[in-house]
Amino acid sequence: MADLWPFGAHADRVRRAPCRLRLHPGWPSGRVEVHVSGRDGVSSDPFRGYSGLQAGEETEPLRSRTGIADPPSRRTGVHPWTKALQCPFRIAGVSRTVKRAFKYRFYPTDAQAAQLSRTFGCVRLVYNMALQARTEAWTQRQERIDYNVTSALLTAWKKTDDLAFLSEVSSVPLQQALRHLQTAYTNFWAKRAKHPTFKSKKRSRRSAEYTTSAFRWRDDTLTLAKMTEPLDVVWSRPLPDGASPSTVTVSCDAAGRWFVSLLCDDVIAQTPATGRVGIDAGLDSVLALSTGEKITNPRHESADRQRLARAQQNLARKQKGSANRAKARVTLARIHARIADRRRDHLHKLTTRLVRENQAIVIEDLAVRNMVKNHRLARAISDAAWRQLRTMLEYKAAWHGRDLVVVDRWFPSTRLCSACGALAQKMPLSVREWTCPCGAVHDRDVNAARNILAAGLAVTACGDGVRPQRESSRTGRSSVKQENLRATKGIPVL
Ligand SMILES: [Zn+2]
Repeated sequence: MADLWPFGAHADRVRRAPCRLRLHPGWPSGRVEVHVSGRDGVSSDPFRGYSGLQAGEETEPLRSRTGIADPPSRRTGVHPWTKALQCPFRIAGVSRTVKRAFKYRFYPTDAQAAQLSRTFGCVRLVYNMALQARTEAWTQRQERIDYNVTSALLTAWKKTDDLAFLSEVSSVPLQQALRHLQTAYTNFWAKRAKHPTFKSKKRSRRSAEYTTSAFRWRDDTLTLAKMTEPLDVVWSRPLPDGASPSTVTVSCDAAGRWFVSLLCDDVIAQTPATGRVGIDAGLDSVLALSTGEKITNPRHESADRQRLARAQQNLARKQKGSANRAKARVTLARIHARIADRRRDHLHKLTTRLVRENQAIVIEDLAVRNMVKNHRLARAISDAAWRQLRTMLEYKAAWHGRDLVVVDRWFPSTRLCSACGALAQKMPLSVREWTCPCGAVHDRDVNAARNILAAGLAVTACGDGVRPQRESSRTGRSSVKQENLRATKGIPVL
């Protein structure tokens, strides 16, 4: 992530205040000037860099996960983003305000680290106790306990001797944990998610969420409740001009790195784009675009794999519970983190480019298909990457008023000739190139991407609310399970 920062190679050690960001009228093809307005008289030389989304560090808006902004009409079968067709923000030049999270690394003092670790523990405990209370109320008395009841329970817990330590940390993250549980239940009742499970000390993400009443944002410094000193944040990228965070989430990953994520309002200019692209996920983490371009993973991948294997082996040889095992575990976690960081960085750059250049982006709904075929590590990794790619495309397309169309997973994109529409025979995975009777020579993946694009465009042309019929031979599954608009209309008759 740090490599993206244009101020130098060792940027993660550079402390800077948030800068002012000014967009040129020609955004996004134009450039952006950043005026550094540091408190301690940092020079105000504007540097020139690419505008808009800087890859690597942005995260999806927190709200979209917590269910406050529910994905619209998932169950009606209409894909949410096809609605963007009537979206007023699509008019060129109109800008749009979105919630956007900016994530930075920070270096806590020993006291801050101890306080935050205690907070993480209390958050986990409160979440688990509230979950147990809700489960018991339902199984034993058929009662539904809501957020308000658990909030009252929390107050009562704090008054008991055993749990008096809950008052030693800020009350806001504990309340937020109860809200997160409420969201988990809302998603469960709406059949969007499974029943919530207990948070684990070892496996769950260590994080705490602070709302405005629990932190102070002044002169571009961030001070959390129950702390005297501000956090030592590395401002690796500018916050939007005049932004002030509404929610702050502190987390610590398995590699021992601390992060703070600031949720701010950001203005995103809606600029028109003419391109249309279809994307096919091939084997071995290769993406093919309908333009003929193929995108492979960054080249360091195999070196990382070797280091990973060695660290894994190292860990396995250590005595359980020993200090050396703990050290080996952190080493392994750092390698995992490095791989994940690189993959995410790569995906951010790719998705930002795709969203900037294209008005319509068509992808394939791969979930089930991959699960069936997944018997190799490479496939598992590309699965995760594909899911991440789709998530990024979804929120970036929504920000920029683009259309993201998801094509049915049973659509025979590989076997269909993109030139004449003929359906070829069953094709083993080893076939990388094939020739259609019509004379067209196809690259397997690019041809699939072209078919996906054609299918997706057929859907957007139909407009909203269209729910094409499935082929009768493929209707073996319940249609309720399908989440997205199926794009089988407009495909040549098979
Ligand atoms: Zn053909």
